[in-house]
Amino acid sequence: PFEVLIVGGGPAGAASGIYTARKGFRTGIAAERFGGQLHDTLGIENLPGTAYTEGPKLAGQLESQIGENEIDLMNLAKAVKLVPAKEEGGLHTVELGNGASLKARSLILATGARWRNLGVPGEAEYRNKGVAYCPHCDGPLFKGKRIAVIGGGNSGVEAAIDLAKIVGHVTLIEYDDKLRADDVLQKKLRSMSNVEIVTSGQTTEITGKDGKVDGLVLKDRTSGDERRIELEGVFVQIGLVPNTEWLEGSGLELTKFGEIVTDEEGRTNLPGVFGAGDVTDVPYKQIVVAMGEGSKAGLSAFDYLIRTEPV
Ligand code: FAD
Repeated sequence: PFEVLIVGGGPAGAASGIYTARKGFRTGIAAERFGGQLHDTLGIENLPGTAYTEGPKLAGQLESQIGENEIDLMNLAKAVKLVPAKEEGGLHTVELGNGASLKARSLILATGARWRNLGVPGEAEYRNKGVAYCPHCDGPLFKGKRIAVIGGGNSGVEAAIDLAKIVGHVTLIEYDDKLRADDVLQKKLRSMSNVEIVTSGQTTEITGKDGKVDGLVLKDRTSGDERRIELEGVFVQIGLVPNTEWLEGSGLELTKFGEIVTDEEGRTNLPGVFGAGDVTDVPYKQIVVAMGEGSKAGLSAFDYLIRTEPV
């Protein structure tokens, strides 16, 4: 069995593994796709110390660092079930989709999250070519341009406030007949002069020309009328879904959004089971945050292992 088994091979899982292997613990990483969301990320300009890199390149660098640290990397290994240890110090079991099962004294769960897609024509085609999901990451690419933010919850309205300071004009589009964000955010948004707020608005298509977004088609859900808005960018902000479906029924505590509940040391409600990165309830889903949380969970697993007698 492993002393530390990490499930997930994104920035969080990779950081955890580097830390636990360097403490001399027998460490394994099981990942459905090593690199995680990094594979969907083109330019990264907000990783401190690295002015510019690209997601797949960073994933490759993490993989070679894993290789230098005696970590057993199992790529294309999808976890389907967690069976926690019956008593503290016992072995946890992670069952894989291929029928195999892995045992470990401690677990770090770092299965990340995925952006909820709109599912309209043009969205997939123009992803990273005007269709964006992360305002912190991609906002500056749209300096002075016209954009739309889709989603009037807290994340959509926060994104619109943030982006309105950088871009030329923001159209915020909410499907419902009112915004769902906190009042204080709505008030702030309404005070900005370059923002138009559309409610009862359904985006039916994202259009483009020469491989780049050039507009979207907006349907008024009350009148049924359709109009075209010309713009260069669309930020989709309709939710981030944690990859925790496989943990349901395991006894692990999740929030109502399905995120793993962790404390300030990355501990979950199950002894010896830790969580890190986008899959947890830690705010701000970013690479540097995921790496920091992953390192912290690695050190917490170390702390657990040196204090707990194996049974
Ligand atoms: P993830 O990267 O999601 O990795 C999760 C890992 O778990 C993957 O290996 C996955 O295959 C695996 N996994 C999932 N389910 C299972 C399972 N059941 N069994 C086994 N393995 C499983 N952040 C920035 O800081 N800067 C940026 O510029 C930036 N740009 C972004 C652009 C896009 C388009 C996207 C989508 C995100 C961007 N982000 C950016 C956010 C950043 O990518 C994430 O915050 C970060 O990758 C989270 O790391 P993580 O390790 O927690 O999860």
